[in-house]
Order: sequence, then structure tokens, then C-alpha cells
Amino acid sequence: MGRHAHRLDGIGSTIFAEMSALAVRTGAVNLGQGFPDEDGPAAVIDAAVAALRSGRNQYPPGHGTPELLDAVIAHQQRHYGLDLVREQVVATTGATEALAGALLGLVEPGDEVVVLEPYYDSYVAMIQIAGGIRKPVTLRAPDFRLDLEELAAAITPRTRLILLNSPHNPTGTVLNRSELEGVAALAIEHDLLVVSDEVYEHLTFGVEHVPVATLPGMFERTVTISSAGKSFSVTGWKIGWASGPADLVAAVEGAKNWLTYVSGGPLQPAVAVALDEHDGFHQQLARDLAVKRDRLSSGLAAAGLTPYRPDGTYFVTTDVSATGYPDGRAFCLDLPARVGVVAIPSQVFYDDQDAGRHLVRWAFCKRTEVIDEAVDRLSAADW
Ligand code: PMP
Ligand code: GLN
Repeated sequence: MGRHAHRLDGIGSTIFAEMSALAVRTGAVNLGQGFPDEDGPAAVIDAAVAALRSGRNQYPPGHGTPELLDAVIAHQQRHYGLDLVREQVVATTGATEALAGALLGLVEPGDEVVVLEPYYDSYVAMIQIAGGIRKPVTLRAPDFRLDLEELAAAITPRTRLILLNSPHNPTGTVLNRSELEGVAALAIEHDLLVVSDEVYEHLTFGVEHVPVATLPGMFERTVTISSAGKSFSVTGWKIGWASGPADLVAAVEGAKNWLTYVSGGPLQPAVAVALDEHDGFHQQLARDLAVKRDRLSSGLAAAGLTPYRPDGTYFVTTDVSATGYPDGRAFCLDLPARVGVVAIPSQVFYDDQDAGRHLVRWAFCKRTEVIDEAVDRLSAADW
């Protein structure tokens, strides 16, 4: 190790930023990084402007602005029947900071963290920064379901928590009630905490999203995380929240105090407006995304890339082995120059390279004409 080696060596940079930069450089259609190319509700943006204009420009309370805390409480009650009080919610800088706070606040060095693989990239970094040890449980193509026996086998006396993500990025799996009951039984048997990343909670296609915290015995051991980015197409606002029992939320907030202290003062009341008044936005978004999922999936299939149909999120995965590339990374690095499209190699989200090597993720949270342009370009490819 050189003089400047440090404990973050090996974490790497974010694949999403890398691939978006590649898209800009090459003029390719960007189906890589997951961000919508249309704005969230105009009334919500107006609420942010009004907050900026009405002097809400200084530090908000560390816990979150009262409107946002109350809106999250009302949201959890309305959608899931969960009863929370303000001490059981903390506002964060996106779900990313809620995840960071949960892992830093709840994982001791040497603790094992069981995590679904493929995993969202910030999990890897934050488990490492917290000094934890990642124990992946693999979701495998073509169905990407959770194998409860594999989950049970991943748990050891050193396991501290299970990090769930449903709806799951990148596979689009939405954990069903029986999978979640299996997780709950193991968490209770081994007295584990659960951190549940539910940022795609409203982006499901005909299947129900069940928060694990609603299962018997689970609220008291679960930190539930979400954010406004996906539900309201404002990924750049970075307003998120964690909720759960007050002691676990205090652990998240304890870490958050030293990460950012507070976040997005004028955006928090606007997100409260979104949560309180704009369920219709994400309901319509989910309907539109289901159509776009099918449109992109048909195009990918026609281009010889078999799609695995997602039940949620805005991503579809394909196997690219038929193209002759050795792996998804080589495929994705060539794709902008060869076809004019950017996608994400899912193998970077796997420890188990056999399971992930040939998988590539495509985002369909784009205008129909953008999806059609990508499909046209792909259909011209001669692999
Ligand atoms: N978790 C998952 C699974 C995600 O896909 C994202 C999207 N970026 C995040 C967390 C981060 O959300 P945010 O932008 O609110 O920090
Ligand atoms: N969540 C988005 C994705 O999975 C992007 C997040 C990011 O760029 N860090 O594409």
C-alpha cells in the first residue's frame, strides 16, 4: 500500500456518473443512470419557489421541517396503516444519506450486513465506511426471487442487520408477502435489525408493495427509508427520510448530524406538499412506466437481448451473452460508439460474478420518443 492508500480504496467511483459522462461525451441516448427526463408536479415546484421567496432559506430543524415530518407520518398512515409520531421520522439528504446514517449509526466495525445482490452501489461503500462486512444473498435471473434458504445460510452470530431493497434496483423485483414473512421470521429469530430501502415504493406495475415494517414484530426492528426523488420525479432535490422506532431513528439522526447536519430547507415544505396532495402524480407515473417498460422490453427483445420483466422500479435487465461480448462491462463500454446508447453493466453490483457477468440494466424513465430512438438504434445493431 502506498503512502496515500486509505480505507476507501477499492470502493471506486459511481458507475452512474461514469456512464452519464460517457453519454454526454458521445451524444448517446442515456438509458443508464436512472433519472426521469420530465419534471415533477408543477405545483410542487411552485411550492419550492414560494418557500425560497418567503424567507425559508436558513437552517431547518435537524430532525426535518414540521410540515415534512407530518406529511411523512400521514403518508405512512394513509398507504400502509403505520402510526408514527415526529420522533419516529428524520428528514435526510435523499435516501442516500438515510442509508448512510442507518449504516453508520447501527453497524459496529466487524458486524456483518446481509444484503440482497445485485446491490445498489452506495450500500457497498457505506457498509465499508461503517467498518461492516458485506454478506450478499444473490437474486438470480430469470426471476430474481429471494431464496429464503440462502438468506438463512448467510446469517451468522456476527450478523447485525439485513439491508433490504424492494422494489429492487436493478432487478425490478418486488418482494412479495411470503418472502417478507420469511425475512421477518429470520430477523426475529436472530434478533436482527432490518434497514429497508423503499425509494421505488410507488413505482410498481400491478403488484402490491408491502413495507416489511408492517409485518408483525417488525416495526420495532426496522428502519424504513424513502425519498421524494423517484415518486415525484425530483431526483436532484435529494430530500429523503427514515422512519421507525425512535431509538433507531435517533441513531440515523446521530450520524446525519455530522454528515450534513440539515438538508434542503426550502425543498422540505415543497416535498410535504407533494406527499400531501400529489398521490395522483406517482399513480399516473406508474401507469406510464408500465407502458414504457413494455415498449423498451419489446425493443430489446427484437434486438436479440432477452429482457427480464420487472414488477417495479424504472429499470429492465437483459442478458447480453448472445452478443458475443465477454461481459456486460465490455458490452456497455462499446455500446455508445457502436449503437449510440448508454446502459449500465449490472455486474458491478455483484460479488458473485457468475450470476451477474452478462446482465445489463436499461432505464425506461424517459420520454417515449427517447425510448423509441434507443430502440431504433438497437435494432440496427448486428451483434
Ligand atoms: N436506493 C436506491 C435503490 C436507489 O435506486 C436510489 C436512487 N438513486 C437511492 C437509494 C438514492 O436515492 P436518493 O436520490 O433519494 O438519495
Ligand atoms: N438511482 C439511480 C440509478 O440507479 C442513480 C443514482 C446515482 O446516480 N447515484 O440509476
